[in-house]
This record gives sequence, C-alpha cells and structure tokens, in this order.
Amino acid sequence: MEARAMLRAAGLYCTAARLAVVDSLVQASGPIKPSTISAQLGTRYDRVTVYRTLDSLVHADLVHKVFIEERACHYELAHRCSKTQCHPHFTCTCCGHTHCLTQLKIPMAQSPHLGFIVQRQQVRLEGLCPDCA
Ligand SMILES: [Zn+2]
Ligand SMILES: [Zn+2]
Ligand SMILES: [Zn+2]
Repeated sequence: MEARAMLRAAGLYCTAARLAVVDSLVQASGPIKPSTISAQLGTRYDRVTVYRTLDSLVHADLVHKVFIEERACHYELAHRCSKTQCHPHFTCTCCGHTHCLTQLKIPMAQSPHLGFIVQRQQVRLEGLCPDCA
C-alpha cells in the first residue's frame, strides 16, 4: 500500500512529515531507529519532528514499536501484524541485522498469572543468520 493510502486508512491527515516517515518505513527491510529515518530525510525535518511523527503513527496503530536496543526504539509498519500479535523477529548476534519472520507463527502466550492480561505478544529471537552461521 502507498503511504498516502495507509495514512487515510488510519484516519490521519497526510502531512508532508508523515508521508516522508511512512515512506522510509515502507522502504526499510526491517525495524529501524528514528536516527536512521532522520538520516534518510536529511535536513528536511529535524529529529523532534521525526519523533513526534512516529508517536502519532504509533498512536494510530499504523506503526509498532518493535524493540529497544542501545536505548533506541526500533519502529516498523504494523500492516504485517495482527491486533494481538506482532510477527516475530530474528536478530543476528554476529552482524546485528534484524529479520522479519513473517511466515513464522508462534502460539499466543496464556496469561502468566491471575490478574495479568496479555494485550500484545512480541517475540524476538537471537542467533546467527544464514550469512553468519
Ligand atoms: Zn507489530
Ligand atoms: Zn548475521
Ligand atoms: Zn518486522
């Protein structure tokens, strides 16, 4: 889906900053950091704008926060996730690349204890990718 159509479907106004951020997420091969997006957008938008834009996209459930690494949150489009479960990710401990495992189905975890309600499951596996193994 095109960035403009994604924003409309999520009920968001198509601002230039949102279009630019969604475009870089569409082009990314996996979850990316705000600093990567900033670097791609160059001087067009400052970092604060990129963060604020990502927040609005997360709030509209168009984008998911996937994991935090070295204090940086990594984001990706939510269109390949279900409401309760993100597709699993695999991070290579050698090259550091994170792969989206969109074909892998992991059963939803049961509530761990009385009183806990599972709202979303995010699974991240670690190991060696085919290039590094
Ligand atoms: Zn997700
Ligand atoms: Zn690797
Ligand atoms: Zn992913």
